[in-house]
Amino acid sequence: MIKSCYIHIPFCNKICSYCDFPKLLNLEKYRRNYLDALEKEIDSIYKGEVLDTIYIGGGTPSCLSLNELKRLFQIVKKFKVSNNLEYTIEGNFESTTVDKLKLYREFGINRLSFGLESINPDNLKLLERSINTKQVEEVLQVSRKLEFQNHNIDLMYALPKESLEVLKKDLEYVFSLNVEHISTYSLIIENHTKLKINQIQNIDSNLDAIMYEEIIKQMKEHGYQHYEISNFSKPGYESRHNTTYWNNEEYYGFGLGASSYIQNERIENTKSITKYLSHQYRNNIETISIKDKIEYEILLNLRKKEGISLLQFQKKYHKPLNHYYDYHYLVENGFLVETEKHLFIPEEKWYISNEIIVQMLEREKYE
Ligand code: SF4
Repeated sequence: MIKSCYIHIPFCNKICSYCDFPKLLNLEKYRRNYLDALEKEIDSIYKGEVLDTIYIGGGTPSCLSLNELKRLFQIVKKFKVSNNLEYTIEGNFESTTVDKLKLYREFGINRLSFGLESINPDNLKLLERSINTKQVEEVLQVSRKLEFQNHNIDLMYALPKESLEVLKKDLEYVFSLNVEHISTYSLIIENHTKLKINQIQNIDSNLDAIMYEEIIKQMKEHGYQHYEISNFSKPGYESRHNTTYWNNEEYYGFGLGASSYIQNERIENTKSITKYLSHQYRNNIETISIKDKIEYEILLNLRKKEGISLLQFQKKYHKPLNHYYDYHYLVENGFLVETEKHLFIPEEKWYISNEIIVQMLEREKYE
């Protein structure tokens, strides 16, 4: 049963140098038609399930006008929702106004996620982003006055030429904001981004690892739980929406370039705005075999601190995990920990989690 829904708003006022998300410059001519197309897509696919989480991401959803946001939230009201809905909207601080925050409240949004990334001028210049710390503080002050109690901030690290000292200053600033949730991202220079075209090189991997350790250490000192490889929260503020993905549960994804996981199909929407506006929503549909499903189960669940629930796994796939994979070598060598109920990667090995997951997947026992 689907309980989560992602909605993509692809518009941004400025394009960042590292960005490989589906996005467009914020052109008014597209925005209205986009919301019309989005509504049609939802109408044609949504089957009336009661949702527990809704996440409006982007892009920069907060760069829509007040009226467009109102229209978007009216569309979202078509969904049936549970009493305990986690309803998130992403945005940047520059385009989040008092009126927009009030509108968010009016429509029941209860989680705000902001891209901050860094406050260091050299980092911001490289990323082609700007930030006004006074504005950041004002937005958070107003949102708290309006009784929003769940804020996320995205922080980027391991930028080329970034030093540990720069990261420490960014962390100090983020902690001063006292938000409930922090997502961290080590910069990966993706193909087709401006950084790649300009042949910018990744940071040395040793320094990247040192930075990751520093982040973990400081997060703990400031009362944040490390509940997923890149995510930290105050107790009780884990992202329920993202946990749907890490639990390998089904979800809807609407909008340009969005992906869905529905009834054993992983569906990718088109990244072409022309196609999207002419209602050709889907680009690719992959039917998931049982083997693929189990691989996703391992790949995604091992990102979480608690790892794979062995009982849930057996319930879902009718046989224990060790029937499908021989992972004892990894347990014996300390790369995985197995308890009666869970299989997980110990935190001190999270930096090499990709390698551990690959090793595990190579030890399959399918006939
Ligand atoms: S704001 Fe986000 S989506 Fe928009 S260009 Fe920057 S990174 Fe990409």
